[in-house]
Amino acid sequence: MEKILIVDDSMVQAAQLRSILADEYDVTIAQTAEEGLRQVSSESYSLILLDVVMPGMDGFTLLKKLQEEIVTQSIPVILITSLSDVEHEQYGLVLGAVDYISKPFNPLIVRARVNTHIKLYDYRREVELRSMTDQLTGIANRRRYEGYSLEKWHEAIRLKIPFSICMFDIDHFKRYNDTFGHPAGDKVIAAVAKTVASRLHRTTDFFARYGGEEFVAISMGDSGEKIFRYLKTIRQAVEDLRIAHDPTVAEWVTVSVGGVTIVPTMETPYAVYLKIADTMLYDAKKHGRNQVVWADEGMKQLWEK
Ligand code: GH3
Ligand code: MG
Ligand code: MG
Repeated sequence: MEKILIVDDSMVQAAQLRSILADEYDVTIAQTAEEGLRQVSSESYSLILLDVVMPGMDGFTLLKKLQEEIVTQSIPVILITSLSDVEHEQYGLVLGAVDYISKPFNPLIVRARVNTHIKLYDYRREVELRSMTDQLTGIANRRRYEGYSLEKWHEAIRLKIPFSICMFDIDHFKRYNDTFGHPAGDKVIAAVAKTVASRLHRTTDFFARYGGEEFVAISMGDSGEKIFRYLKTIRQAVEDLRIAHDPTVAEWVTVSVGGVTIVPTMETPYAVYLKIADTMLYDAKKHGRNQVVWADEGMKQLWEK
């Protein structure tokens, strides 16, 4: 059941709205704007019904605050006004409310408007999610990675915790396509993505398709030595899929992995470390592929073979 928040100082009015919507939605009531703010930061709501006139913080101030926060700015807000409130209505719509409903409430109209805006909201969220997902593998795409990596980079700077950037590249993949065909190659990309993704599943891990047969991962909190050891097991898991390759280049499909762990600071930009991760990957390729090469916090290079 989708969640609706009613912010209204009048309990009678709020209870009336709730009774209209309770069959279809999970409805919560907040009796002040401050309580409403607390609610939206702890629960995820699909819609907010907001009374304009309230003692303390009024509805417009709350609406402005919701619009300023990334997590709440896309939640649709419907204003509750009385028929004489034309100016309030106009002002609220300018501030970003999606609609308004007037007292006395007509249950059919309330339900219809709420349903419409929740449907639109769900649709938009689905489109957003799809635009961030790689179609072939179902994992995050490059676009999602760009946004996520910067966000987490700043978080790691603030928290002073280790941050790892890891690049994966399937070995001799051009040859695989040439030998087995592009559709078979696609299946390999999907199988490798699934194998790696299932092992990078902690909330502090992130894994995306970087492009072509390359992937990128981000992991926070672990030392370079620890993540290096863990990635060796992931590299092994890909080899253990036992996907036959063209025997003139390799027995099985494998990946080369390169990365770096740092405790980031404001002084050095993310791009510098991405380049180091890429250099480690290059070294892994140069030294025979199917291996992990890492640069740890002291920029000491760790070699698998
Ligand atoms: P290396 O071991 O050095 O990484 O060699 P490689 O052949 O894997 O590297 P290269 O960059 O030369 O070739 C990558 C190949 O990946 C070429 C391209 O056709 C193929 N490729 C890229 N994207 C896709 C895709 O979506 N599907 C398939 N089937 N192949 C792809
Ligand atoms: Mg490549
Ligand atoms: Mg490759």
